[in-house]
Amino acid sequence: MVPYLSEIRYLKGVGEKKAHTLNKLGVDTVGALLRFYPRAYEDWGTIDEIYSDNLQKTVCIRAVVVSDVTEHPIRNKLTLYKFFAADQSGRMQVTIYNNKYLAQKIAMGREYLFYGKMDGNIIYRNMSSPEISEVGSNAIKPIYHASANMSSKVISSLVKTALLNTQLPDPLPSDVLKEYNLCDLNTAISNIHFPKTKELLERARKRLIFEELFLLQAGFIMLRNAKRTVTDVSVKNEYTNQFLSVLPFELTSAQKRVIGECMADIKSGQCMNRLIQGDVGSGKTLVAAALMFNMVKNGYQSAFMAPTEVLAQQHFKSLSALFEQFSIKCALLTGSVTAANKNKIKTAIANGEVDIVIGTHAIITDDTLFDNLGLVITDEQHRFGVAQRSLLAKKGNHPHTLVMSATPIPRTLALTIYGDLDISIIDEYPKGRTPIETYAVGSDKRQRAYNYIKKHLDEGRQGYIVCPLVEEGENTDLISAEEHYKKLSENEFKNYSVGLLHGKMTAKEKTKIMREFADGQIDLLVCTTVVEVGIDVANAAILAVENAERFGLSALHQLRGRVGRGKYKSTCIFISDSESKNTKARLNIMCSTNDGFKIADEDLKLRGPGDFLGKKQHGLPDLKIADFVNDMQIVRASGNAAKKCIINDPSLSKPENANLKAEIRRMFLSAMS
Ligand code: ADP
Ligand code: MG
Repeated sequence: MVPYLSEIRYLKGVGEKKAHTLNKLGVDTVGALLRFYPRAYEDWGTIDEIYSDNLQKTVCIRAVVVSDVTEHPIRNKLTLYKFFAADQSGRMQVTIYNNKYLAQKIAMGREYLFYGKMDGNIIYRNMSSPEISEVGSNAIKPIYHASANMSSKVISSLVKTALLNTQLPDPLPSDVLKEYNLCDLNTAISNIHFPKTKELLERARKRLIFEELFLLQAGFIMLRNAKRTVTDVSVKNEYTNQFLSVLPFELTSAQKRVIGECMADIKSGQCMNRLIQGDVGSGKTLVAAALMFNMVKNGYQSAFMAPTEVLAQQHFKSLSALFEQFSIKCALLTGSVTAANKNKIKTAIANGEVDIVIGTHAIITDDTLFDNLGLVITDEQHRFGVAQRSLLAKKGNHPHTLVMSATPIPRTLALTIYGDLDISIIDEYPKGRTPIETYAVGSDKRQRAYNYIKKHLDEGRQGYIVCPLVEEGENTDLISAEEHYKKLSENEFKNYSVGLLHGKMTAKEKTKIMREFADGQIDLLVCTTVVEVGIDVANAAILAVENAERFGLSALHQLRGRVGRGKYKSTCIFISDSESKNTKARLNIMCSTNDGFKIADEDLKLRGPGDFLGKKQHGLPDLKIADFVNDMQIVRASGNAAKKCIINDPSLSKPENANLKAEIRRMFLSAMS
């Protein structure tokens, strides 16, 4: 036996060179080789007939050799070997390229399995260089991620050797195996590589997926537990009802539930580390306001950070109006506040004269001191880095932290991205919203789209036309915001007040334009995705997006969220001439639903998790076999099992959990290296 943690070069048949190649494939130990799961399988168990509806399909044929093998030298160093093989439906020609060794083994009258693509036509069949195997060998063959220096076949034979010489310790506790009817690890490993039947393969897969998701979730629960620090922020009393009583509307039950979840954290004596996920317009700001109100009433300050200056100002405006009636003092702290003013504001914050500070990340990068900071909220978190989050958390005496995200992420993925946070979800919209009507059209319909926009403007509404970001030097016929603005304001929309908003304008210019738009002085705003996040103008009821193919699903969804925010029925028009299947699929999804979580699920399916998450998130383990789209049910089951397990043994110090603990450590360590 070889210990599973032995370096791979100690496996029989692995020399210096093979070890090097395997290392490059991520296989450093004998155990890691056993965990190097096949990427696909060849099905040699389902036998097809030579003459069936199988042209150009990959099939497995069981046929008897009915001719001698003939040799056909083609040119220098290339020889073809040909013979005929037959089953009851007829015969096919088989061609082998240059493999004399294989050709010599083929015996007239013997039966073989031929695996490969069926070629020919209705009267003639042939297979070119199929895989050929003795009858009776394994029905399902593994295909590995091979490299130029090592074929899938070689890997397969090394795995066979490893299976004979190594056993892996099973990280899953035996009561979990029993409860979820899972096979033990070594059976699963053997069957993931060389399954005798599809059923055994499925059982092995299920067990390994379960294990992977179990380890991941158990690891995150432990990380979360470790992060729970005792806070000196002491919140005893809850004033939520007092706050709610002044609102002109009733909160949705989702809003109330989430406020409750946060308040339970805040009153627990330990730091809150929570993420609120809520679709655009689900009313996250009011949840934040209710929490800040509670903090102030308990004698603490709160900080509220937005990703852009424009948003910070918007929040400041609405929050200070809301809090005025309680004599709660809000201050705005952003990069563009003048130095003199900044100092004044900072002094007031340090003295505790300000209760709520609203701003951009200037709040954290600056040397702002707080008198008594109790709660830090970051809005639209995906624009903030994790590092910034923790920087802010350091100000004050272990304040509570809350992150609000308007990018709906499938629950399963949220778990990995924000694995160290507790998650609350606002999955309900305020009553009385009419769903936004969405159309995807080609540019031949642009004129009609413009007429439709004018119709809205004539009724007193406002609108957006969003253009893609055009990088400098990008040589395309994309529509840029600046040019489009010029053209539209001079021609099509010359009788309207048209504004321009894009990322290269100064903060001051942007703010001015946004204010004019919010005040209704601008009818139509030609802009880039700077409007994507959070902008809240209830009178805006129409939005058109040019070159819609340039935007991902979540961006389109965020953009659409700029309308339909008030009582007016709103419309969204995506203009694109793209013929790409993927673009069409995206736009179809947008036209068929307004539900951000559904869109996120579809987005994940279209893009796959790697791309969905963008650049590899630091410190997150890679998944080898589990898949967040298709393995939802197992995610849930294994999550429950992991929770139960950690509750019973928080530090995994019981002997029956020793393997589990070691495996979690290995999983998370490898993600950090
Ligand atoms: P988001 O979750 O996108 O940040 P906001 O907090 O900006 O959403 O809320 C969107 C709009 O809906 C705001 O104008 C807000 O005042 C309003 N709103 C929030 N909650 C409710 C509610 N329960 N009933 C009616 N309107 C609400
Ligand atoms: Mg918001």
